[in-house]
Amino acid sequence: MAKQQQAIQAIRGMHDILPEQSPYWHWLESKARQVLGAYGYQEIRLPIVEKTELFKRSIGEVTDIVEKEMYTFDDRNGDSLTLRPEGTAGCLRACLEHGLLHNQSHRLWYYGPMFRHERPQKGRYRQFYQLGVETYGMPGPDVDAEMILLTDRLWKKIGIRDKVELQINSLGTSEERAAYRSTLVSYFQQHLSVLDEDSLRRLETNPLRILDSKNPAMQEMLQQAPVLLNHLGEDSLNHFNRLKAMLDDLGIEYSLNTRLVRGLDYYSKTVFEWVTDELGSQGTICAGGRYDGLIEQLGGKPNHAIGFAMGMERILALVELLENVDIAPTVDVYMIRVGEAAEQAGMMLAERLRDQLDGLKLQVNFGGGSFKSQFKKADKSGAAYAIIIGDDEAQRGDVALKSLRVEQEQITLNHDDLIDQLKSHLSL
Ligand code: ATP
Ligand code: MG
Repeated sequence: MAKQQQAIQAIRGMHDILPEQSPYWHWLESKARQVLGAYGYQEIRLPIVEKTELFKRSIGEVTDIVEKEMYTFDDRNGDSLTLRPEGTAGCLRACLEHGLLHNQSHRLWYYGPMFRHERPQKGRYRQFYQLGVETYGMPGPDVDAEMILLTDRLWKKIGIRDKVELQINSLGTSEERAAYRSTLVSYFQQHLSVLDEDSLRRLETNPLRILDSKNPAMQEMLQQAPVLLNHLGEDSLNHFNRLKAMLDDLGIEYSLNTRLVRGLDYYSKTVFEWVTDELGSQGTICAGGRYDGLIEQLGGKPNHAIGFAMGMERILALVELLENVDIAPTVDVYMIRVGEAAEQAGMMLAERLRDQLDGLKLQVNFGGGSFKSQFKKADKSGAAYAIIIGDDEAQRGDVALKSLRVEQEQITLNHDDLIDQLKSHLSL
């Protein structure tokens, strides 16, 4: 006898989305599509693998992602490739490659899995899904405001608006940041004893990221740190003030977080995050900002860009906390068939129903069983109605129809009347 093989398991931090969860994913995805459609955004589908160089050059050599989180491997011909850790770089690469940025503006979105070798924990995975938006060719700040409006609308649509809060900041230009950086480094040098190991390392490479540290022992020192906003030039300040005025006019509340720096190198001017305190330390559900400079960095002409990405698992974790989520059932109607004649008649009727009722979700019982056991399966399917065919119905050429949700006598119908009834009950 063959030895039983040991089962193979998924990779740590990479999760299956099981059938009982997928309706929630579809629901969120379709709400997001509706909102994106309402603002005239187009989908772009991008490869999951890109040249490693793309991420090094865009995200930045000394960021967490490039330093330690990328899934990088050599292709068979020796090229270094990386599973995308985010979508901004690939989206811009594609638009430059296809000449989409010549005197045009674009509003784009993409969706799919991203890969980062992080320590897995709730809300932090090694494969996770992002829906991202990127816009090109618009200097703003009206488009900055649109990014925020669009996300605000989505939170309202899915019922989590009261669980999230908007934080904004401006990172200015790279020149302004460079000047601020030296002020900040000298401040940190006066407080070396308070800096943790990570921060000491970043002092050389990426001191702004220290501001983002969650280490409680450093918070007091960080609160006193010099503020980047005070080092911005007129143009950056003006851009930021106009954005704030628009948000005020539109009635969008925000809080100014002067320590919001984002983990990626390419941002300039506006940055924002939507955060919640209901998911523990993985509280950012959506984050983004302007990155005008990245376009030149990747070989394009000077241009404008702003975008954001939202973490789908974290949003769904918030949705899970809601009482009522209106998820469409997988099955509307379950067909119960008992007896050989009924099985044959049922199969044909089912096809006729699908022909005539566009959008009908009908599941046919397979594998036999008594009326009782088939009714159990019908209930479990989530269907609102059962069509019942036994020997008598098969012989007469009619069916019984029963509501599985409300207490009602079952009724006997011919096939044409059944079609009419289903059409009106299910609004097909
Ligand atoms: P964090 O500070 O939580 O690590 P980040 O700054 O690395 O986030 P971004 O690169 O801006 O995140 O990604 C945008 C969004 O994608 C995040 O706000 C979050 O919702 C989600 N996200 C990022 N990394 C992960 C991950 N490892 N697992 C699940 N979701 C993630
Ligand atoms: Mg991160």
